[in-house]
Amino acid sequence: MSDLNICVLPGDGIGVEVMGAARAVLSTLEKRFGFRLAAEEHPGGAAYWRETGREMPQGAWEAARSADAILFGSMGLPDVRYPDGTEIAPHLKMRVDFDLFAGVRPIRRLPNTPAVLASPRAADIDLVIIRELTEGLFASRGKGVVIDDREARDTLVITRATSEKLFDFAFDLARRRKAKGSAGLVTCVDKANVFVSMAFFRKIFDERARNFPDVEARHHYVDAAALDLVRKPWVFDVMVMENMYADILSDVGGGIVGGMGLAPSAEIGLEHALFQPAHGSAPDIAGQGLANPTAMLLSTAMMLEWLGHRHGRERLVEAADALDAAVERAFAEGAAFPAEIGGPHGTAEVTRAVMDRIA
Ligand code: ATP
Ligand code: MG
Repeated sequence: MSDLNICVLPGDGIGVEVMGAARAVLSTLEKRFGFRLAAEEHPGGAAYWRETGREMPQGAWEAARSADAILFGSMGLPDVRYPDGTEIAPHLKMRVDFDLFAGVRPIRRLPNTPAVLASPRAADIDLVIIRELTEGLFASRGKGVVIDDREARDTLVITRATSEKLFDFAFDLARRRKAKGSAGLVTCVDKANVFVSMAFFRKIFDERARNFPDVEARHHYVDAAALDLVRKPWVFDVMVMENMYADILSDVGGGIVGGMGLAPSAEIGLEHALFQPAHGSAPDIAGQGLANPTAMLLSTAMMLEWLGHRHGRERLVEAADALDAAVERAFAEGAAFPAEIGGPHGTAEVTRAVMDRIA
């Protein structure tokens, strides 16, 4: 019995392997918490393009559109390209087509992962970067101009409509995190002292902040934010910023907690949502059983939590918390020590360690 359905797109390379882990863990959670998600799986991505000349089968795009959530592995392979020379990346089109304006990148230190920052407080790193995904400097993609080989221009776009949705999303997230013990703080990262677009961004942030008096609102210039992200990241809770700044700072964030296979992400709109690990298809390790499934599993937990809140299903939220806690414990107890960070465990061992801590 299920009235919620998810569209499963494993994609290419290790996307397929970590999706296998996610589906195994999902069925454990379904049994344990007594819910069912109808999952419809479709091929798609670079390998599919090589075989068929299309990104995804007919119907897969519509299945993604009509699903309650999209669970995504990774698409793209370096040697398979569109005629214009860029990599096969249908999910970049999904961001626009499904208006997935809020990229959610939790930056959290898991136990027993390499300490990139020396401070003992590095164990407390637990922040979320909210990346605007549909405009900012990336709005210029495909539209930049080179004039007479003398000059090049790209344009940064900030709209009120998208910014309002983005900030409301960030404040709402901070409020929910505060209920679980976080600081209840949103930091707007900008360069309002230099750019009119960024001053506009900040003005809208301040307007929206007034609707969330229980959440603290602060500003930080992007350069100072970069400094503090490596110097004292534990001072941040939710950070919200323009597309390009977030592109850079989320890699800094990934860097301070130690590995691509540890970084989950979500791309959220008002009508649609997509959940995927932050890493790519990693052809260098594909097919060897070495992929770290942690990012995929944490993305799956984010999906369950989002579905649970959106549809008022307490069991899904409980399952999300249980999965999150199981990952945390598997690392804390040394049962999950992925090869990616120098440990002995491949995809299967990490997945098993997490599943054992759910049941
Ligand atoms: P994309 O263009 O899709 O961002 P990319 O070229 O940046 O992809 P990834 O596929 O993310 O690269 O891989 C970067 C490096 O990190 C590779 O060496 C890869 O093996 C490693 N890596 C990425 N994800 C994982 C994972 N889940 N487990 C282990 N190693 C990983
Ligand atoms: Mg990359």
